[in-house]
Amino acid sequence: MEQNIRQITDLRAYRGTPRERAERDVGAGQRHVARIVEAATANAAGLSFESPIRCRRRPKRVPCTGHIIVRRQDLPSEIQWACGECGDTGLVHNWRGTPWDVAGHDHRATQLAVYLRPADYKVIELYGGLDASSRALVLGARRVSQLVVIEGTPERLEWLCAAIDLMQPRARPADRDALERIRESLALRLGRYHDRGL
Ligand SMILES: [Zn+2]
Repeated sequence: MEQNIRQITDLRAYRGTPRERAERDVGAGQRHVARIVEAATANAAGLSFESPIRCRRRPKRVPCTGHIIVRRQDLPSEIQWACGECGDTGLVHNWRGTPWDVAGHDHRATQLAVYLRPADYKVIELYGGLDASSRALVLGARRVSQLVVIEGTPERLEWLCAAIDLMQPRARPADRDALERIRESLALRLGRYHDRGL
């Protein structure tokens, strides 16, 4: 992320704004930045990682295929982002206290990683009915060798499992298989942890 910063966003106008209103008021560009803030605040500070968020640029009218690399810094507090493909870059200020600041859990506790297919991840990423803890878990996903990895404590993974159980009967038939695969991956990972402590 050494390039010149192309886009600087200041989100102070949304501090303390209820989520619903903020979501209604932001334009497409800011929505993209808001999603970046969610990814950055769901992960530990100082960590640079590739998120599942797609680049919005269309160089020569062809959509960029890159994903956004995100890094949050706490002193001074700012979020840096860059597209891994086209080099689009940005900086976000004053995101603390906005509805997209999902920070506030312990990154030092035991973390279990669960790998998902990107298409399956998309289904759960877009689901609006998750509790705050599960939502932060999902939004903090990272891309690792063509897969999407979500990482959280065993308790939070169990919460997510329970949330999927609740949403599955109401999900569109097309989404049910994806939810089932996610649930299975979570259950497998949790089973290994509970059986062997791994
Ligand atoms: Zn790009």
